[in-house]
Amino acid sequence: MDARPAMTRPRVAVSGCLLGEPVRFNGGHSRDRFLAGALGPHVDWVPICPEMEAGLGTPRETLRLEGSDRGPRLMTRTSRVDLTDRMTALAAARTAALDVDGYVFKAKSPSCGLHGIPVHRESGPPADRRGRGVFAGVVLSADPLLPVEDEGRLHDALLRETFVERIFAHARLRELLTGDWRPRDLVAFHARHKMQILAHDPAAYRLAGRLVAQAGNRPRDELAADYAGAFRTALSRKASVGRNVNVLHHCLGMITVDALQRADLVEVIASYQAGLVPLSVPVTLLRHHARGEDGGYVLGQTYFSPYPADLALRNHVPA
Ligand code: SF4
Repeated sequence: MDARPAMTRPRVAVSGCLLGEPVRFNGGHSRDRFLAGALGPHVDWVPICPEMEAGLGTPRETLRLEGSDRGPRLMTRTSRVDLTDRMTALAAARTAALDVDGYVFKAKSPSCGLHGIPVHRESGPPADRRGRGVFAGVVLSADPLLPVEDEGRLHDALLRETFVERIFAHARLRELLTGDWRPRDLVAFHARHKMQILAHDPAAYRLAGRLVAQAGNRPRDELAADYAGAFRTALSRKASVGRNVNVLHHCLGMITVDALQRADLVEVIASYQAGLVPLSVPVTLLRHHARGEDGGYVLGQTYFSPYPADLALRNHVPA
């Protein structure tokens, strides 16, 4: 029997142009193949085009960030209208009602860009290239633990896997905490996420364990907020090769295999550690051997199925 629970669909906000909506300044789009293709069937998108929602329409004059003594301003490039306050107010209102498990922003946009947006002088070359889109900046300040990426960074296999893992984990947590959960539900949730949390952040793993031990003895809302904080913080930390190796050995210690099988598994884990095979190889082999009563616990770990298997995001060899 497959011990893996059904996948919860994440709700993910996205710059609308990335899904192919014709909302760019020139009436075009920036459809992203991975987002609109492979990932699309597994998530519920919440497309947002801040510049359209700010009433700028299409086609429209292009915008850019300009430095000022009040920080970067969002300006129309030729007519030089300052749209910063309008965009900030829109972002605050949108953010307050967002309720999503992640956000994919369009790179290089003065509204949506997350990193490296040029901040111009009135004329001449940019004074700074470390700006952030005005809309994106408000979203991030409101919830620093929200999984966010831009489509450019998602072309990197490791960043893509990390982001997708996080949005599915957030979705499962949201599903639990927005339901009529009991202390035993939180205990069960934590039990099946243990290896996943451990792979990201051993300190948060210990903290989350202590919090769960208090289930039933603390006000529900307080406990939920503390646990959510520990869980989301853990997932925001990168799962390193060393921590994955630790988790794989942990799981190997929990299943019954003969000496030959154990030696095979140890060798495959070492190959992953050495950068010779991707994480999918030891994970698949461990899952294969996790049979019977003692295998159920291992198979039930979200570490082994953090997102739908057909996304196949663990097939890259660690650098
Ligand atoms: Fe709209 Fe943002 Fe795309 Fe620009 S980058 S078209 S503001 S969604």
